[in-house]
Amino acid sequence: MRGIHNIYNKPDDYLSKKSILGVWNSIAGIRLELTKFGVPSDSFMKKKTNSGTDTMFWRDKWLGERTLKEIFSNLYLLDKTKNCRVANIIDRGTARWDWKQPPATPTQVHELANITSLIVGFHLNSDPNVWKCTLAEDGRFHVNEIRRRIDQLSTPTPPPPHTPASPIVWLMEIPIKVNCFVWRDNVGRVPSAVALIRRGIPVDSTICKGCRTEEDDSKHILFDCPFARTVWRWIMTWCSIQFPCFQSQLLKKRRHTLLSICYGALWWIWRARNERIFNSQHNSPAKVADTIQAQVFSWIKYRRKQCNIKWVDWYTRPLNCN
Ligand SMILES: [Zn+2]
Repeated sequence: MRGIHNIYNKPDDYLSKKSILGVWNSIAGIRLELTKFGVPSDSFMKKKTNSGTDTMFWRDKWLGERTLKEIFSNLYLLDKTKNCRVANIIDRGTARWDWKQPPATPTQVHELANITSLIVGFHLNSDPNVWKCTLAEDGRFHVNEIRRRIDQLSTPTPPPPHTPASPIVWLMEIPIKVNCFVWRDNVGRVPSAVALIRRGIPVDSTICKGCRTEEDDSKHILFDCPFARTVWRWIMTWCSIQFPCFQSQLLKKRRHTLLSICYGALWWIWRARNERIFNSQHNSPAKVADTIQAQVFSWIKYRRKQCNIKWVDWYTRPLNCN
């Protein structure tokens, strides 16, 4: 495999020659995917150098998080064999250099002193080099540990209560997936057609499939599309509030109920849009508004502490319900 992919003279993080297709190339491609998720493979797979025969002295990360080539770039230029192994250089705790010409400038001499102090006392042994995964206690690679790491990074943790600059309010009385959705919208990560194109994912059109006039971005889908506007108008009427006083309403004690309704509305407008596009199922704004009314009622009734909310009150004056 090393021969096929020409990796004998490449560092550890070089896994395959892209021009040769095959299973190994697909496996190696996972590294790129992991990097996209913010979990680059070299952040959790660490090599322990024992024999030093298959670790590149300058180009592998075997002492810390950076290569010696990056840290001591002037010395690297002086070395005759750039691809030399650790075992070629280190011999019983001392270094055997093979310079084109001896380090002479102040920078080179300074680097030589530093690299010597770094590798002095580093003893090789005859054991093979081993790779360890730092995500698991046993040092072995487990797929579920990677899954957990990705989930940790992509799921927001609820902000502590009363955080002054918190961009969204995390509501315990509504499902986590809905809180996550509102958070994703707040940070511009709702996968609208416009957002997908920006990420390089091909879509057939960026025009909203609801009104067929405007761009399909999250603001349009959730607020400006005639479908969403109709739903919001219905909610404003139901809650007896008007758009201009929306903000001031949020500051009052009923803001949690109103926010829950708004989060529910965002969630169900988004779901209706996806049903329309992916399942050809067309729900009317009135049907979506009914769903929001019923769903948010059950969220609050069963999740809010000491809640005696009654449907008849909810139906007529939702913001007076506790
Ligand atoms: Zn539209």
